[in-house]
Amino acid sequence: MASPVTPQFTGARRRLIDELRAKGISDLAVLRALDLTPRHQFVPTGVRHRAYEDAPLPIGSGQTISQPYVHAMYLQTLRLHGSEKVLEIGTGSGYQTVLLAHLCRHVYSIERIRPLIETARDAITECGVTNVSLLCGDGTLGWPEFAPYDAILVGAGAPEIPQPLVAQLAEGGRLIVPIGGRDDQRLVEITRTAAGVERRNLSDVRFVPLVGKHGWEST
Ligand code: SAH
Repeated sequence: MASPVTPQFTGARRRLIDELRAKGISDLAVLRALDLTPRHQFVPTGVRHRAYEDAPLPIGSGQTISQPYVHAMYLQTLRLHGSEKVLEIGTGSGYQTVLLAHLCRHVYSIERIRPLIETARDAITECGVTNVSLLCGDGTLGWPEFAPYDAILVGAGAPEIPQPLVAQLAEGGRLIVPIGGRDDQRLVEITRTAAGVERRNLSDVRFVPLVGKHGWEST
């Protein structure tokens, strides 16, 4: 059977992984997920030759696939063990969705732009992962049907913490969300505890706006 990961870009992918290690990504499970996931299949053909640069790239509909370092840092922060139920807001290209699928039990992922989710669905299927459910809609409302989640990752920047997402965290569960202005944000980690929530500020980041009822009004 043909491997879902084409050998064509293997060298470039290994070089990207070495670059990410040099930048501080040391979690072996995260590095393995990066090695298993063909990023070139998640970008438009016109930028495919740049798929293994540590840079964001356009994916159409005015959106971007995030920089690999940002994905890796998110995933390293989460320290997933493999048994978790994870909610992702902003499927985009579907690349991070597949990274997550290699690191947890099931990924629920929501994207508001239909053409993006359809392209992502094809790319995800091509990778051979089956523990992913996709929904087209407003991710600021979460996906209550499958709550509570052990982790929630938001891949777009919000003006403030979307409360429905906090409400859908399991006890001990963590929400990672960029909070701030439309162009620059601070990555914030919210942990739900028996007593309430704990907040920790992580690095400065730049994400496209989270658009929805508990986000920005429009792009
Ligand atoms: N991790 C993705 C990030 C894509 S950019 C990747 O690397 O491919 C962020 C995505 O969030 C965009 O596709 C955008 O359309 C989506 N988005 C913005 N607001 C949203 C919302 N309220 N619900 C779901 N998706 C949203």
